Amino acid sequence: MRRTIAASILLASLLGIGTAGAAECPADALGVSRTLVVDVNEHPRVGSWQYGESLPLNDHEVVLTFDDGPLPPYTDRVLDLLAAECVKATFFMVGRMVQAYPAAVRRVYNEGHTIANHSQTHPFTFHKMSVDQASREIEGGFSSLRTALGDPKAVAPFFRFPGLLRQTAVEQYLVDHGDMTWSVDLAADDWTHINNRDVARRAISRLEARGKGILLLHDIQARTALALPEILQELKARGYKIVHVVPATPDRPKTVTEPELWAAARHAPEPKVWPRTLAVGIESPEPVLAAPSPASFGIETVGRTSKVAMAQSFDRQPEAPAWPSPADYAVPSESHLLPIAGAHNFRNVRVFRLGEPEKPKVAAKKSPARSRPAYGGWRGNWPASSRGSRAVGHQLTVVRPPINLAAPQTR
Ligand SMILES: [Zn+2]
Repeated sequence: MRRTIAASILLASLLGIGTAGAAECPADALGVSRTLVVDVNEHPRVGSWQYGESLPLNDHEVVLTFDDGPLPPYTDRVLDLLAAECVKATFFMVGRMVQAYPAAVRRVYNEGHTIANHSQTHPFTFHKMSVDQASREIEGGFSSLRTALGDPKAVAPFFRFPGLLRQTAVEQYLVDHGDMTWSVDLAADDWTHINNRDVARRAISRLEARGKGILLLHDIQARTALALPEILQELKARGYKIVHVVPATPDRPKTVTEPELWAAARHAPEPKVWPRTLAVGIESPEPVLAAPSPASFGIETVGRTSKVAMAQSFDRQPEAPAWPSPADYAVPSESHLLPIAGAHNFRNVRVFRLGEPEKPKVAAKKSPARSRPAYGGWRGNWPASSRGSRAVGHQLTVVRPPINLAAPQTR
């Protein structure tokens, strides 16, 4: 019976019919036991992993949070499952994901969940970036959400640091701007390479150990979407209650709470490093290229001198593994091939050596047609007579392959 109702809700939601109303809830749905309205200014930071306060939950109360989305189809699956149990959660979204999938953001909002900010691009440098940079990430995330929803009031002033990489100055920025920083109380490690059964097991066993808390999940992960039915089933079977958190507004006063319920003993070490969890398009992985080496860019080191070839030199490729692979750039046989630009093609190229110059060798290659100094080992300005351009641009020692010396100047 429940399955039939759940299926009809799922079908209705796929058809775009509003299903968030309580009327459609099955009698045995997990549901939301209460809505907690929080005053952001009174409690600017929550989550016992990092702070001395967490949400004022009673025993066996859980707040579900989903980070890093939205990412169809996993977010959609998560929403279907939450709707089937009439459960509300908080979604900490990444701005560029929001820009990519604005319809998914609207669905999350329209189904009654809390919309929160997880930065614009999910950088893992929040602990060391300037407040100025952080403010751009924070405000960029809020701005993307407001644009997607078209209503500033639709976005909760809740922020969670990517990777929980906090720093005091940025936390202060958030306080100054009326934003609440969320850490976590419990995680299910769903960003690691474990299967969905382990995600569910860790979520439940840690909840059983702590008794209550803010649970961190990721709606961009297939394993999380697959684990959610078991998590919700276990929560119900073990008598847990879902609490939905929303911010206080002028027409929605805060929930009156026991002050001591906010106090939380920090119970997890602050993570120093957090694996990257943002995975866009993981169902069709991008081809991965090996990291480039200096040789990939035509730079070779002879003794203490680094040379950069600014002209194509195909004859060097066999011994220097090219990056990207030449195979990735198949050229149609009828194409006309043009040589890569040489240093002489750029008006404002200044060159200097990275190490000791090789004066005799490079000087011998100097073009007699030019009054300029040789490319290698020279670090002064161009002579005043040379096109009147100032010395700016590349600051690398350049060796021009012989083929290049002849070509354009003799034409
Ligand atoms: Zn994240």
